[in-house]
Amino acid sequence: MKRFFAVFSVIILVLTGCADKGTGGSAQAKSRSVFAMDTYMELKAYGDNADAALDRAVSRINEIEAELSVTLPDSDISRLNTSGGEPVEVSRDCAWLISNAVKYGGMTGGALDITLYPVVKEWGFTTGEYKIPDDARLTELLSNVDYSAVSVNDKEVTLPENAEVDLGALAKGFTSSQVAAILKEDDVRSGIVSLGGNVQAIGSKPDGSDWRVSVRDPFAPETDMCIVEISDMAVITSGNYERYFTGEDGKNYWHIIDPADGYPADNGLVSVTVIGADGLMCDALSTALFVAGKDSAADLWREEGGFELILVTDDAEIFYTEGLEGKFTNVSSMTTEVISR
Ligand code: AMP
Ligand code: MG
Repeated sequence: MKRFFAVFSVIILVLTGCADKGTGGSAQAKSRSVFAMDTYMELKAYGDNADAALDRAVSRINEIEAELSVTLPDSDISRLNTSGGEPVEVSRDCAWLISNAVKYGGMTGGALDITLYPVVKEWGFTTGEYKIPDDARLTELLSNVDYSAVSVNDKEVTLPENAEVDLGALAKGFTSSQVAAILKEDDVRSGIVSLGGNVQAIGSKPDGSDWRVSVRDPFAPETDMCIVEISDMAVITSGNYERYFTGEDGKNYWHIIDPADGYPADNGLVSVTVIGADGLMCDALSTALFVAGKDSAADLWREEGGFELILVTDDAEIFYTEGLEGKFTNVSSMTTEVISR
């Protein structure tokens, strides 16, 4: 039987030890907590320059939020969503994210579709005023959903007249990569950030060993399911327990939508974790592969390099890709199986 719990973050950090090796100075962690993008963010960095680096990282987070927010009326996204089909000049970040969203939309056969926003709104996932839309309304809204109709020309973006976008599926991964880049530029050689449970490591732990990042059990999200050992990588999870409501029919409806029918994606997976060096890619793929299902996810992993996967099926089995062997520890009672090339 499926169990669901109202927990929003996906992964908790296992932060251990702070010995003094390879940190470029002080082994004392400096940290910041930020609430942005509707998410609690924790940033930790080691080294002499950590404080200044973290301040720059926090400014960068605020800058990205101001550009990409769907609620701030002057954000790039709000201007796009009210543009009535006219081209809009947006920030470099926004143009970059939209062109990547279109690319990953294509790579995943349309499983990632940023133009689903009107459908996501109709379910109430943006406001918390949840409802099950009627089918006629979904059909009407889906007629304007098509990521491939979005065009990006340098910093100029054009949406079809009735289209609206949101970058919630990939913005946090992009942001965590940007934070990592800033910290590194500022001489931080060891750090770790969690943006609502999406983790990005900068280097390894101060003692030179890998960071140990735990991934939540989608059937009991307050407990860990597994631990992965990583350095310089992002660990990003999409799960059906992160944001959902129970309808009047007693069924649960979650926030990751299948563009094929406008309903919460229900293709056999309850969580997808993507691990790789490129946070934006990990975030885009975590959402898309949740929609695509296990076999398509494994096929994409075989075709494209640059990431590893941990998939949890709705019948409580864990599948992980062979690149994680030796780096993966199951701490749940679920069975595991390795996906090979
Ligand atoms: P994530 O937590 O990264 O999986 O992103 C989920 C968020 O992306 C949702 O809350 C929606 O705002 C949006 N979204 C839902 N389904 C899709 C989809 N199929 N493609 C793109 N964005 C989506
Ligand atoms: Mg995502």
